[in-house]
Amino acid sequence: MEILRRPREMQAWADFQRAPGRRVGLVPTMGDLHEGHVSLVRIAREQGCDVVAATIFVNPTQFGPGEDYERYPRDEERDLLILKGAGTAAVYLPGVHDMYPEGYQTFVEVGEVSRGLCGAARPGHFRGVATVVAKLFHVGKPHVAVFGEKDYQQLAVIRRMVRDLDLDIEVVAAPTVREADGLAMSSRNKYLEEGDRKAARCLSRGLFLARNLFLEGERDPMRVAAAARAAIEAEGRAALEYVEARDPETLRPLAGPSNRMTILVAAHVGPARLIDNITLQGGETA
Ligand code: AMP
Repeated sequence: MEILRRPREMQAWADFQRAPGRRVGLVPTMGDLHEGHVSLVRIAREQGCDVVAATIFVNPTQFGPGEDYERYPRDEERDLLILKGAGTAAVYLPGVHDMYPEGYQTFVEVGEVSRGLCGAARPGHFRGVATVVAKLFHVGKPHVAVFGEKDYQQLAVIRRMVRDLDLDIEVVAAPTVREADGLAMSSRNKYLEEGDRKAARCLSRGLFLARNLFLEGERDPMRVAAAARAAIEAEGRAALEYVEARDPETLRPLAGPSNRMTILVAAHVGPARLIDNITLQGGETA
């Protein structure tokens, strides 16, 4: 497994892979890897990639003031072992000054889909995400890039950026990998002490209750979302930030009853801000 730390090294690796016609997959991460990340590497392979590169970079421009940039968990050695075990061909680990050298002043701003939901609570977050992902695309030169549905709005922002900027990259969505009790895997789950860890189940519990209601035939987005809201509000240790039912593609609010909706939630539990979502689809494919 190649370990690359400079943009030019990563570009040279990508050129070398692409020249004989290999299909390159890219899996961007912030490290502190778990099974969710590993599944992305596997999915890249299943998408026909001959080689898969992962990137590890805790991106300062996507964190707001007072957020967890400094304390975000970092464990390079462990991450490299995990990626090696997953069959990753190369890992790109740039330093902050490689990504944002002195005088840096170029950003990618995706419009409407970046606003609302997490964009409302974290101003500038998706500008940082779109910028770093655009830069990783330019050095990794992938044919395919895999992103988790766990970060649903992020996925929508990246899809929009790829379309709007005519990037020749196939964006693949990977299903959310969960702990046995339903909690979506996340590096931020590390912030939870025992009581908070139990309380954190209210997010997925709420989403599963919403799904049950939908499966029973409820199609009113407000009512479906209300089931998730009630479960989170009933948990004393959780502070709800939002519960919304949105169009799965555009993330726009739904005007009325719908056979397709994504329920998105964000809540603070102890020191952690947690997000989760579920997409519900009625009819034959339910
Ligand atoms: P992160 O390192 O948290 O920035 O995540 C890197 C990538 O892994 C993103 O595309 C995430 O959506 C994805 N990811 C994170 N957690 C999960 C999970 N539990 N299941 C699937 N994908 C995930």
